[in-house]
Amino acid sequence: PTNRTTAERDIESLLHPYTNPIRHQEIGPLVIARGQGVRVFDDTGKDYIEGLAGLWCTALGWGEERLVAAAAEQMRTLPFYHLFGHKSHDPAIALGERLLALAPVPMARAFLTGSGSEANDTALKMIRYRANALGQPNKKKVIARDRAYHGVTIATSSLTGLAVNHRSFDLPDPAVLRAACPHYYRGGRPGESEEAFSTRLAEELEAMILAEGPETVAAFFAEPVMGAGGVVVPPADYFPKIQAVLDKYDILLVADEVICGFGRTGKMFGSETFGMRPDIMTMAKGLSSGYLPISALLINERVLAPIVAEAGRIGTFGHGYTYGGHPVSAAVAVETLKIYAERDILSHVAQVAPVLQDGLRGFANHPMVGEVRGIGLIAAVELVADKETKTPFDPSWGVGATLVARAQDHGLILRAMGDSIAFSPPLIITADEISEMLYRFALALADTAAWVAE
Ligand code: PLP
Repeated sequence: PTNRTTAERDIESLLHPYTNPIRHQEIGPLVIARGQGVRVFDDTGKDYIEGLAGLWCTALGWGEERLVAAAAEQMRTLPFYHLFGHKSHDPAIALGERLLALAPVPMARAFLTGSGSEANDTALKMIRYRANALGQPNKKKVIARDRAYHGVTIATSSLTGLAVNHRSFDLPDPAVLRAACPHYYRGGRPGESEEAFSTRLAEELEAMILAEGPETVAAFFAEPVMGAGGVVVPPADYFPKIQAVLDKYDILLVADEVICGFGRTGKMFGSETFGMRPDIMTMAKGLSSGYLPISALLINERVLAPIVAEAGRIGTFGHGYTYGGHPVSAAVAVETLKIYAERDILSHVAQVAPVLQDGLRGFANHPMVGEVRGIGLIAAVELVADKETKTPFDPSWGVGATLVARAQDHGLILRAMGDSIAFSPPLIITADEISEMLYRFALALADTAAWVAE
């Protein structure tokens, strides 16, 4: 049949990630046709401000011609090559050099991968390899936190601390130890200061390490700001206290910079914003502004040296992906990093972040707003049924999803994590565009409040 609608063709051809397939059949897809700047347009021509930069990634917005040109040129010159077995290519080398130069702590090598999940999966494999190299075959347990998001491969799903990624997948793997989420608003005890909260979390971490045996614990994974877990900004002294515990027991810190990397929190990396000294950093998303899939790990000497020794001994480092450091993706990433530097993206973020952060805090007195949190150009508004007692809405109401649907009506794309509404716009967003985004959010919040009141 030739008269099938786009919606019908979508429904009959695709199983969508992170989507309720039954509900999808009822409401159909929002088909995005093109984008320009901080806006995308659907197939009817309606415009939306992309309040989440797609999936926290399109830092330079849509329509950046320099990235198009970089991709086209590399496509013509060398559309594919790889890094296996002593082969190399210039875009990968240039990217490795740039990333090492940007690193906030001394890093020894870059390893190029294709997605955030692959980068974290690679980190897990490096941790095991290193432990074997060091003659510590039992020191392989890893710690990740409740509400963390580190990917969805069979291994990284277990690092991820969200039920939706575990239920019916027979996950998580019990070898992943779970630490508390540093969300003071939800996790702080009555009368406990933010500082005391951080101290308690560090003490709980130490107790867990001691109970497991420090000789069995290899690494701690952490996003500087948790993204998919609801945009959790840790207390300022949280990471320094956690770092002290990790140092004491010779445990590696893996900073998952997939969302926070490249300016999102106001510094080049979230690790700088929060005083982390990672041994491994994983990054993706903003690395290519989402224009092409690419991710990377930076590893320090402490990780590199045993890996080199072991690989030398057994003959090869037996890990790598066909598309790891793909030349077209790498060329686009190099160009992206050049643009961040030339346009001084960090200064721009410093300039406009208060418009977003103060603007959102302007909603803090709204009866449905429990907490507004954020830093740089990442933020969340958490909706609650009772402000005083912080009581959440009954999840079956879908209040967060309803707000997101109303925002879409008003031309604003946001994302709900439960009843926390996330903001992570393109980093190039202007103050005026932020004001417009906040205005559209205000309309959606009012609609949602009226719906809840019914
Ligand atoms: N780590 C973090 C912090 C993320 O936010 C994500 C994706 O949202 C990932 C890892 C996984 O990245 P990918 O979806 O590219 O596999």
